[in-house]
Amino acid sequence: MCDFIIYYYVRRNCRLPEAHAQFASRGGGSMKPCSSGPHKRFLYEPGECALCMGRML
Ligand SMILES: [Zn+2]
Ligand SMILES: [Zn+2]
Repeated sequence: MCDFIIYYYVRRNCRLPEAHAQFASRGGGSMKPCSSGPHKRFLYEPGECALCMGRML
């Protein structure tokens, strides 16, 4: 596996981290991901996801 990685910053209670990420940033040195993933990492932060909260109606 390469060192291509994308960090997703999400709220701790989020149920759809990839879709609701505050923002994503690329890490690692590789320019392109190889064929064997995953190349995603979720960084959970305290707080509530506004998008998820809106769907709880
Ligand atoms: Zn890879
Ligand atoms: Zn969410």
